[in-house]
Amino acid sequence: MHELTAQGNDEHLSRQLLHRATNTGWIEVIAGSMFSGKSEELIRRLRRAKIARQKVQVFKPQIDTRYALDYIVSHSEMRHESNAVASSAELLSQVEPDTEVIGIDEAQFFDNGLVSVANELARRGVRVIIAGLDQDFRGVPFDPVPQLLSIAEYITKTHAICVRCGQPANYSQRIVESEERVAVGASDMYEARCRRCFVPHADAPTAHLVEASIDL
Ligand code: ADP
Ligand code: ZN
Repeated sequence: MHELTAQGNDEHLSRQLLHRATNTGWIEVIAGSMFSGKSEELIRRLRRAKIARQKVQVFKPQIDTRYALDYIVSHSEMRHESNAVASSAELLSQVEPDTEVIGIDEAQFFDNGLVSVANELARRGVRVIIAGLDQDFRGVPFDPVPQLLSIAEYITKTHAICVRCGQPANYSQRIVESEERVAVGASDMYEARCRRCFVPHADAPTAHLVEASIDL
């Protein structure tokens, strides 16, 4: 039983072996700021599952239209096929009975029903791997990722590199003017910042903050 208590990526490996033996499902969440490598890590795990000849299905929310609809794509141009779905209910309806591993990217753009859908899939014996932003551009926890972190068996927190100082970055700073919580974009709209360099938006007018972030 030693390997069941191992930490980090090895844990997933031993879990994979156990999965075959017992058909037990579980939830893994990969959470962090933008540019922290969530999509890369998700794609890496999915590729390895395919090497193990497991049946894999991948989903993303339809709202994320930055890149091709039928792929999840990392900022470093790694890509993996995916199905774009409008809701967690549609995701569940598209799961095929013999699927062993499900990848879900951009979890923060799903409805809160994703929490019970993930639980249901794990109950059926599926390994559910979910990647998502844990905070919005203001630094506010981004539903349903906090709830998913609570119910997950395994959590990986990823960090980007602060573009200002080079320290590990935990925040996604919006560098254009918009009050919308959901404004989909990449390096043209956001940059990775550490706690010291992040300029909180919550109670301040956006224009002032944008000015501050550009002038620094
Ligand atoms: P996420 O899904 O968390 O937004 P991705 O997996 O799409 O992240 O992209 C991670 C990649 O982004 C890195 O491997 C690197 O090539 C690139 N990148 C660009 N800017 C940064 C940054 N500030 N810190 C770290 N990686 C960055
Ligand atoms: Zn910094």
